[in-house]
Amino acid sequence: MKQKAVFLDRDGTINKETDLLKNLSQLRLLPNVGKAIKKLNLLKYLVIIITNQPVIARGWATEQDVDYAHSVLLERLKRAGARVQGIYYCPHHPNANLKQYRIRCSCRKPNIGMIKKALRIFNIDPNKSFIVGDRTADILAGKRAGLKSILVKTGYGGQDRKYQAAADFQAKNLYRAVDIIKKYGL
Ligand SMILES: [Mg+2]
Ligand SMILES: [Zn+2]
Repeated sequence: MKQKAVFLDRDGTINKETDLLKNLSQLRLLPNVGKAIKKLNLLKYLVIIITNQPVIARGWATEQDVDYAHSVLLERLKRAGARVQGIYYCPHHPNANLKQYRIRCSCRKPNIGMIKKALRIFNIDPNKSFIVGDRTADILAGKRAGLKSILVKTGYGGQDRKYQAAADFQAKNLYRAVDIIKKYGL
């Protein structure tokens, strides 16, 4: 039996958007995020974070820095009773300062490399799964991967003007997005 999952963007969806999180003092959870993820746990969704981190390609943070930030993030969520099953990030950028990250990769959203990897590893059915994010790249990635998409009005709130992609649903924030998932999820 395949599992169902909710893919969550990180910056602007879970934590405050800061235009490239460079150090941990900038890591602020948005209101009710722990409660929202806890609800997803209770609804039997796997919770998987997928995030573009070009901050690495720029050379402003290392992969180790990002891993450490994620361990802190998971610990804070855990204290709120919320569990996250996976975190995937893309360190690349086509115009990276650091040569080793300067590629047109298949993982940077709106590409779906990170989603495809998680679908395979966790045996997830995309038709029963959602993506929640604040940027058009999140919505487009979700559509390309066959997920239902929810645009949240936190962070960029869909106003980044990068891609044409209409979300299936819109929600004020992640907590409200979970109401939609509860109502329309299979
Ligand atoms: Mg975002
Ligand atoms: Zn990548």
